[in-house]
Amino acid sequence: MTIARITTKLSRFLSSTRSLPTSRSAIYIPKKMLTSTMTVTFLGTSSGGGPSTSRNCSSLVADVLGDNSLWMVDCAEGTLRQFHLQPYSTDRSNLRLSQVKKIFITHMHADHVIGIVPILRNLLFPVPVGTNAAELEALRKPHPTIEIYGPAGIRTFVRSILKMTLSRMSDKYVVHELLAPTDQVTSCEPEVMHANEVAGEDIFCSTEDGLWRGVTQGQGIFGPVMVDAGPIVHRDPCIGYVFREAVQPFRKIVILGDTCDPSAIMPLCIYPSPSLLIHEAADAHIPQEIDPKARRPYDVVKEKAIARGHSLPEMAGAFAKTIGAQKLVLNHLGGRQSISNFLRFPAPNSAEGYRLTNIRSNVIAEIERQASEAWGMGTARAAWDFMRVALPNPDSFPPQTAVNDQLTTQDQTQDSAHPTAYNTWETSHTETRLDPSTTANPGRHRERGHWRTRPSRHDGVYRKRQYGDSDNVDLSQNRNHGAQMKRGS
Ligand SMILES: [Zn+2]
Ligand SMILES: [Zn+2]
Repeated sequence: MTIARITTKLSRFLSSTRSLPTSRSAIYIPKKMLTSTMTVTFLGTSSGGGPSTSRNCSSLVADVLGDNSLWMVDCAEGTLRQFHLQPYSTDRSNLRLSQVKKIFITHMHADHVIGIVPILRNLLFPVPVGTNAAELEALRKPHPTIEIYGPAGIRTFVRSILKMTLSRMSDKYVVHELLAPTDQVTSCEPEVMHANEVAGEDIFCSTEDGLWRGVTQGQGIFGPVMVDAGPIVHRDPCIGYVFREAVQPFRKIVILGDTCDPSAIMPLCIYPSPSLLIHEAADAHIPQEIDPKARRPYDVVKEKAIARGHSLPEMAGAFAKTIGAQKLVLNHLGGRQSISNFLRFPAPNSAEGYRLTNIRSNVIAEIERQASEAWGMGTARAAWDFMRVALPNPDSFPPQTAVNDQLTTQDQTQDSAHPTAYNTWETSHTETRLDPSTTANPGRHRERGHWRTRPSRHDGVYRKRQYGDSDNVDLSQNRNHGAQMKRGS
């Protein structure tokens, strides 16, 4: 018997005999099924008015490859600490900073970028005491430990702060900038770079539609997971990211930065529609029957939100409807103190607290109601710190519903035993199917019972690969794939 077979048998034995928290949870989930579930975990869900007592500012991590690595989107002040503050959980391992391999920045506002440098200083390890330059060079890995993607300015920001804080680390990082035609390229000449920096790519958007296709990719459990990006309207330049499987089951996660109008990214959000849309809702009109101290009229709330480049819940819902999003999570919720000195949109203290009838949870429920009504395809969920959204593989076996029941049961058990904000909102790819007759996706045609897409247009964006394994992707697999949107469910 080979060592591999012995190991497999041993792990199966251990799995079958492990004690789970309750008898209701005693169903064994094959490891492959767990890893084939994409997850998004929120580390900070407050708008720039935060951090508040219940929310850190913007950051989330997505596990989209199934290989234990994490891709982070935005990195507010205190993001590093959020890793340490994860609520205790017995049935799953906590996220570790060392799992983060890529960071995607939506825009340069302070509530989205200030946490990058502390993260780098931890991830790249301090230089051992007494190490000279030659020894240090020999110690360093040839490739950067972490890759950062973001708008013009992110390279200078990271470089400057690392230089000004006299930071010396062992490993290397790289910053790739997503540039518009009018943006200045930031030099990567050796004399201007930080000692731990590797020259990054300057990735210009398509001159045709302003989008960045194929920004980067990773090898997912079923095949390549591609990253595309597009500009969205905020009061300063801002980007939305799209993580999508290039092969079946074609799950797609759209994560928008701050915006009052994301319509420019729409071509990336259809064919197929996203499994999950994460949209900001920085402000909302709360009626007095929900919060007796609410004073602001609807028109004032909406006008100010748009003037600041932000959205109300119903705007998020309307965009979700336009692109046929199957799940909608509201993020970047108002964190400033309101007139009544009550936190405007406080997070629930726990998953259990989420269901309590009080002003705190009623305000959140009202925000969700407004978005859900505009969306019309399900119940939108307002994110809270450490909330985890799961997108299981819809083709998994045993049947999808059994897996959902199982995981939900475990989470509920966990939450009642440990009253924390940690909870998983399970999502099923098949739960809310898009009805093709009610959406506004132009250019589709129907063939043999499935909705098919147009061949993807290659935009010819120049992108010089300097390292890595991402040169040889067969994009033809992504052409004409069926969105397989069935009526009803
Ligand atoms: Zn913000
Ligand atoms: Zn902003």
